Amino acid sequence: MTTENFITHIIKDDLATGKNDSKVITRFPPEPNGYLHIGHAKSMCLNFGIAKELGHGQCHLRFDDTNPCKEEQEFVDSIQEDIKWLGFDWNDHLYFASDYYDKLYQFAIELIKEGKAYVCSLNAEQMREYRGTLTEPGKNSPDRDNTAEENLALFEQMKNGEFKEGEKVLRAKIDMNAPNINLRDPVIYRILKDAHHHRTGDKWKIYPMYDYAHPISDMIENITHSICTLEFEDHRPLYDWYINNIKSTCHPQQIEFARLGLSYTVMSKRKLKELVDNKIVDGWSDPRMPTLSGMRRRGYPPEAIRDFCDRIGTTKKDSVNDIALLETCVRENLDENAERRMAVLDPIKVVITNYTEDKEEIFEAHNHPKRPELGKRKIYLSKEIYIDKTDFMEEPAKKYFRLAPGKSVRLRNAYVITCDEVIKDPNTNEVMELRCSYDPATKGGVTPEGQKRVKGIIHWVSAKHAFTNAEVRLYDRLFTEEFPENDKSIDYKTYINKESLIIKKDVMLEASLADAKVGSRYQFERVGYFILDHEKTTDGKLAFNQIVELKGTRHAAT
Ligand code: ATP
Ligand code: MG
Repeated sequence: MTTENFITHIIKDDLATGKNDSKVITRFPPEPNGYLHIGHAKSMCLNFGIAKELGHGQCHLRFDDTNPCKEEQEFVDSIQEDIKWLGFDWNDHLYFASDYYDKLYQFAIELIKEGKAYVCSLNAEQMREYRGTLTEPGKNSPDRDNTAEENLALFEQMKNGEFKEGEKVLRAKIDMNAPNINLRDPVIYRILKDAHHHRTGDKWKIYPMYDYAHPISDMIENITHSICTLEFEDHRPLYDWYINNIKSTCHPQQIEFARLGLSYTVMSKRKLKELVDNKIVDGWSDPRMPTLSGMRRRGYPPEAIRDFCDRIGTTKKDSVNDIALLETCVRENLDENAERRMAVLDPIKVVITNYTEDKEEIFEAHNHPKRPELGKRKIYLSKEIYIDKTDFMEEPAKKYFRLAPGKSVRLRNAYVITCDEVIKDPNTNEVMELRCSYDPATKGGVTPEGQKRVKGIIHWVSAKHAFTNAEVRLYDRLFTEEFPENDKSIDYKTYINKESLIIKKDVMLEASLADAKVGSRYQFERVGYFILDHEKTTDGKLAFNQIVELKGTRHAAT
């Protein structure tokens, strides 16, 4: 469900007045020059969500591929995969702006014939100079009053590759004095002679500008509401000018909303590409990336991403959203859906001295505390177990309820143990092993009469039964600064978090994890949420990605 917002209000009003024959058709128009990121997710939630709720579900996927220099098939493929993963479907409505090149060209011819476009010979520097500024009007190009015949001939020559790049452009003849600079005779077509387009190959030597191609593509597809980000607000008069000055069959309405920004990351595709190209991250799908493929690998459920996009709302005011809110959405989803397991990431050995040498016990543990339908699994106990180093303190702080010399703690799903002896490395004084005794009367959560209830419960893994051929990859935020792009004088890469990936190799996992399936998500109790990674998991060797910590785990005091 898309929450009500100013865009849904506009569309509902249109429906009420019967505008556009009471149809709602939206589009999601990515440029195939990178992978989709969480900002695109917001745009998808709006466009696909609104079409579903207020129309008949018609939201087109249109690749806005008008810039051949940066576009690639790899991106076309990844974008489609990510849209589907997020839970959206364009059905039969897959389009490419490049499919409209012939039509766009014809419309340009019409504009020239009607004296509304002309071929201009000013170079880039002169163009800038003639354009004027916010406070000064522009100047007319010397070519502005050439005849339609002259312009048609020149445009034909442009198309045939008879000019060098930058030598000529086709411009709309609007108004060099317009207060809105976008209306000062904007460029419609430019020459790109050596560019190889990922779909049209070398057919074209001229390419339409985004501002020209976009409204006309919308019109061709009968889009009713063209939802875009705020930076296009000043381009709307130009959008409307093109629609009004060609033979349009409909007039899509452009509506702008504020981009989604996220703390502790960067979002522009140019910067994300830079991180990839400089190998600062391990490709576009690195689990630290704000890309959808990165979040998928990281283990974020698509439902949680959609929930986040909904919760942040839709406004006209730019703001940066707290990444903690996204993590909360992920956590809430996983708390409900992820099965529980026990895993010790920083193991220390515990010998249960009064437990018989060859004895083994099997406990049945619920996979989920609130969802019995998710079943149970077997937990093994034997004389030697591992617990996490952080669950023992030689000199316990106040209110430390875990293991310490002479203190007791409950082993989750099993018994209460008491620490009787601490074995240390004589050279380093490092704690090597703990000798504990267990109380058979405390099995399965029982507190015998007259005994005080033990407060602390810790996770553990039987040494003999542990699955060890695994690594656990702990991820932190990619940047150390909340707003790495704020100070334009400092390269955002300065703030890369060098400890954003820590790989734990000596982990002890409960036996049942040997059967984990790639893509399955678990809560490692008291640690966090994890997914079995599809890229790093190889035959027999498991690699788990940390999806998100349990709230506050990293800096927990007790
Ligand atoms: P970037 O600046 O990251 O390269 P872009 O706007 O150039 O992004 P496009 O591929 O053109 O990327 O975007 C496709 C659609 O997604 C557009 O409608 C665009 O407005 C929208 N979009 C892109 N980034 C965001 C964002 N951060 N928040 C909301 N919508 C976004
Ligand atoms: Mg764009």
